[in-house]
Amino acid sequence: MPVCCVVYGCSNRSGREKNKRFYRVPKVVVHKAEQFKKLTEERRKKWLSNLHLRSGGAESSNARVCSDHFIRGIS
Ligand SMILES: [Zn+2]
Repeated sequence: MPVCCVVYGCSNRSGREKNKRFYRVPKVVVHKAEQFKKLTEERRKKWLSNLHLRSGGAESSNARVCSDHFIRGIS
């Protein structure tokens, strides 16, 4: 199933862009240790503050962001 990038103004989708990677927007993990929850919460916040996502984009369970929006070495 093709996935679309949820970043505002970006129309990349898997299948069409063969050499792009698509990353899932991290979710906050709540069913594990408290420490893990904080870690995932911060990671998600960082993603959302660095990326301009389409409204509601990050809420979708299959939200993806393509490799265009990443600086190499940072994930
Ligand atoms: Zn994109």
